Formats: sequence, C-alpha cells, structure tokens
Amino acid sequence: MARKILVLPGDYIGPEIMAEAVKVLLEVNSRFGLDLELEYGLLGGAAIDATGVPLPPETLERARAADAILLGAVGGPKWDGVERHLRPERGLLGIRSELKLFGNLRPAILYPQLADASSLKPEVVSGLDILIVRELTGGIYFGEPRGIRVLENGEREGYNTYVYRESEIRRIAHLAFSLARKRDRRLCSVDKANVLEVTMLWREVMDEVGAEYPDVELSHMYVDNAAMQLLRAPKQFDVLVTGNMFGDILSDAAAMLTGSIGMLPSASLDQAGRGMYEPCHGTAPDIAGQGKANPLATILSVAMMLRYTLASPAAADAIEQAVSAVLDQGLRTPDIHTAGRQLVSTTGMGDAVIAALRA
Ligand code: NAD
Repeated sequence: MARKILVLPGDYIGPEIMAEAVKVLLEVNSRFGLDLELEYGLLGGAAIDATGVPLPPETLERARAADAILLGAVGGPKWDGVERHLRPERGLLGIRSELKLFGNLRPAILYPQLADASSLKPEVVSGLDILIVRELTGGIYFGEPRGIRVLENGEREGYNTYVYRESEIRRIAHLAFSLARKRDRRLCSVDKANVLEVTMLWREVMDEVGAEYPDVELSHMYVDNAAMQLLRAPKQFDVLVTGNMFGDILSDAAAMLTGSIGMLPSASLDQAGRGMYEPCHGTAPDIAGQGKANPLATILSVAMMLRYTLASPAAADAIEQAVSAVLDQGLRTPDIHTAGRQLVSTTGMGDAVIAALRA
C-alpha cells in the first residue's frame, strides 16, 4: 500500500526550499521503488491567508492520516500584526502537540568540506557529529497558567509555567537512550537542577531510566555549562537530551558550529516513530524570492524521514552521499562561506543533488 507524505511548504522561503526537497524525494521514490504518495497542505501564514487560521482542520486531518510530514518553515513579518493565538507559529506548535510529536532530533554534523565555514576553529569542529534530542511538547512553552496580567498597582506582569510530568521525562529519556545505543553510547542530560525543581525531577528520572541502559554512559550537565562546552569543545558530546526551551537554544548554538543553519535537518517523532521532518531554520524573509535559500537542510530532512519513519536507509544514505558529493564539487549557496566556493542558486543546488543521485 502506498505510504502518504503530507507536504507543508509554509511561508517565505518555505515553498522555494520545498520545491527542491520534493524533486529529490520524487527521484528516490522512483529509484528505490518506495511507493510514496505526496499530498499538499496549508500551515502557518499561508493557511491564515487562505482560511483565517494557522492550522486548518483539513491540514490536521491529513497530517493524522499521513505516514510522515515534510514541512518547510512558517511565519514572517506579514503576520506580525495578527492576534497572538492566530499567529503562524501557533500552527506549528499546534500540529506538534496534536500529533504528540514529543521527540525532536537535531543532528549537528560538520561536513569536512565546510570546516572553514564554522565560526569556530576548524580543529575544534572538524568531524563534529552530535545529536541533540529536545523534548518538544512540554515544558515552559506549553505550561499553564500563562499570560500577561495587570497587577493591582497597575503594573503589567508576564508569567509562564515550567512543568514536566514524570511520564513526559521518561518517554524522552527512552528515546534518547535508544538513539545513543545506535551511536557512540554516550548520553549527556542537560538541566538546571541546581535552581529549578522541575529539572531536579528531570535528573532523577534520567538516572532511573539510565539503569535500564547500562551499556549507555549517562552524564548530567547544567545548561549554562552545556552552552559553554558546546562552544569550547563540542566534540566531547555524542547525544544530548534536554527539555523544550533549553533544547531550542542549545540546538541553534550547535547549528552555528556547522557553518550554516541552512544545512541542518530535524525530525520530530511520536511514540510510534511517525514524524514531521523540517529544516531547523525559519522562513528567512530577508532572502525570500531571491533564489538564495539553501535547500540542503530540507533535502537532508527528507533523508531523516526515509531513515526514521519510512525504514528506507539505503535511500537516506543515497541522499546524504549526494549532498556530500555536491559539497565536494565546491557548490555553495551564499549562506555558506568557504574559500573558493562556486555559488549556486536554490534550484541550482537542488539540480546538483539530483545529478549526484543519478551519477
Ligand atoms: P531564520 O532562520 O528564518 O533566519 C535567520 C538567518 O538565517 C537569516 O539571515 C536568514 O536569511 C538565514 N537563513 C535561514 N535559513 C536559511 C537558508 N535555508 N538558506 C540561507 N539562509 C538562511 O530566523 P528568523 O529570521 O529569526 O525568523 C524568520 C521567521 O521564521 C520568523 O517569523 C520566525 O518566527 C520563523 N521561524 C519559523 C520556524 C519554523 O517554521 N520551524 C523556525 C524558526 C523561525
């Protein structure tokens, strides 16, 4: 039976990068006989313009029926003025929580060809291959109560709630430990257990789950130190696991180590391994419509989808090797600053990946 992929291009550069990723997906679909069926849907700003809401019921229905979702990026200045509960990002948070996509995988891999594009010295980052596992449907981004209220003295006060249930910590721990098992078997859990009770519990539960994975070495680190260590000696890490907000920030810092945010894919998985796949970056309104966007993060998200949800590791390997081959050829979109680069457009990069797949 055909497997359904829901494609959500999103806003600004979203449709540009998605067009290249879909070209690559269709190429491997026929080459590897994957029997994939693509459908399209609206999310974010594009959905607001067409239907008035960022996550239309039809999109959610199609997302529930799909085997996997491929997303570009959503949001941008065009929708800055809309009410908070209708903002494009609400569509993204909504789909993640409705589909219970609790586990966000963000690899930070430095392709050796891009070592001099990193903001750190090549010897510090060369060969970097870390995986950040971020809890995605809990923590302070979802905790209630939340809001902005006016106090008796007329002063406004903003408040959010940082809360994690034991079961939420346990399931992200199991995901992180099982991923570490497939890698170098080292897991570092990041918290702020010296200050926040919620992360004291996080640490306790990590230790409890760790007892079930004696073959994986578990360590703990405070988030401020983790930020420092990521910039000082990032290669010390194999897999990092952390909560929603810390993971958001640390994974963007890790992204910069790799030369460009335009290179980084991500996966968000549910308990059954179904998932949504998207680049780590946003909609880059500053370069939209200019053919400058790097489509490789989205193309590499296709590879992650093939590996983690569609169980097609050969097709995933083929895409990753094709990306490496185009980098070997010196082809770069403008976001990747390496010496002697040959600049290509968004479509030029997509075409080069297809050519490398066919070579
Ligand atoms: P951004 O990631 O869109 O852009 C940051 C910088 O990186 C910009 O200079 C941009 O040009 C560059 N960049 C990003 N992706 C690139 C690519 N593929 N190729 C080349 N350069 C690239 O972050 P931002 O500017 O903070 O956010 C812009 C909009 O995107 C906002 O509305 C934000 O809410 C939204 N956003 C969406 C997502 C998502 O959909 N998952 C994630 C982050 C931000």
